[in-house]
Amino acid sequence: MGVTRDGEQGPNFAPGMILRARQTILTEGVRGSISQRVMKQFDLRQGVDPQTYGLGIKEVWEIPAEKHKPGFVQHSFGWPMDDGTYGGAWLYHFGENLVSYGFVTGLDYSNTWLSPFQEMQRLKAHPEFAKHLEGGRRLIYGARALSEGGFQALPRLSFPGGVLAGDSAGFLNMPKIKGTHTAMKSGMLAGEAIAETLGQEGSSEATSYTERFKSSWLFKELFEARNIRPAFARWGNRLGALYAGIDSVIFRGRAPWTLHFSHTDHEALKPAEKSKPIAYPKPDGALTFDLTSSVFLSGTNHEEDQPIHLKLRDPSKWLPVNWALFRSPESRYCPAGVYEALEEDNTMRLQINAQNCVHCKTCDIKDPTQNIDWCVPEGAGGPNYPVGM
Ligand code: SF4
Repeated sequence: MGVTRDGEQGPNFAPGMILRARQTILTEGVRGSISQRVMKQFDLRQGVDPQTYGLGIKEVWEIPAEKHKPGFVQHSFGWPMDDGTYGGAWLYHFGENLVSYGFVTGLDYSNTWLSPFQEMQRLKAHPEFAKHLEGGRRLIYGARALSEGGFQALPRLSFPGGVLAGDSAGFLNMPKIKGTHTAMKSGMLAGEAIAETLGQEGSSEATSYTERFKSSWLFKELFEARNIRPAFARWGNRLGALYAGIDSVIFRGRAPWTLHFSHTDHEALKPAEKSKPIAYPKPDGALTFDLTSSVFLSGTNHEEDQPIHLKLRDPSKWLPVNWALFRSPESRYCPAGVYEALEEDNTMRLQINAQNCVHCKTCDIKDPTQNIDWCVPEGAGGPNYPVGM
């Protein structure tokens, strides 16, 4: 039921109306705007590790029929990024001559010159990836952040009047790069807990959700995977992989310790003068592409007259911090070219092309002073991915 700010009730929901419910299940996906506010308001992250994220960028290709091997799966990690930067790729053959290719960059990276989009492009030039895509045609492009913190970064799951489920809480199993089954299970547990709460007089918090989670296979699965991602964060790719092997094969996820994340992703970024510049190759237009042609394939659209959904909380911070210290990291980590550092009248300014935003949420996560405010756009604008993405 929609309720206007004046208390008038109506069946339709319109801008400016308030939705009221006895219980709300927040399932907004990674870094959900309402979920973030609720976690802050009810202090749901007290005593847990900071959440860490990855940025997944994906393309779908159509390749010649003679190259297509239905069911073929290939994963990689590390290269072309350095040992201290977590990330990896997948390549799957599926459907009718289709290939899904994607690259995830851990957003705890420190080098301000790094561009997740460029890393994704240049991996395609590796012979083991290029041989699948050469002669093919790129159909779709998109990007989305993933929550990688897992077990030790899960917040308190319930609060008065609602619960967090799926990626709103961060139920992804990172070593498996799978979250659909965990999201579904968390939704089932949340539903059971809420049904119980609604049947109890005077109870407003579905506290049994946490107990149900602790007794489920979901808890066991995430608990056993808990040390893998922090091992990479702590020791880099080579030693992290060695540890992951030992943890999975010898301890089977039951090591008598838990590794922790020590900082948020935005705190990890180093200033430009302490970061090594990276020279990315120019796109060849056949295997590798530029940002503009990529964003076009995401079908992104926002109504022209809607309020801008990306703002700087304090615009005066951009020049002395984002530009002077970090040389505009947002112009590299944004996979849609939304942010451009432009020179005007002998000074630099930030241009925000909000209409290009593919809603990946990376700027909300990675801005060094958390100065970018990502508001939910009006009118269901955003990327328009066809089936298969
Ligand atoms: S503006 Fe932010 S949310 Fe939008 S595509 Fe760029 S980084 Fe992602």
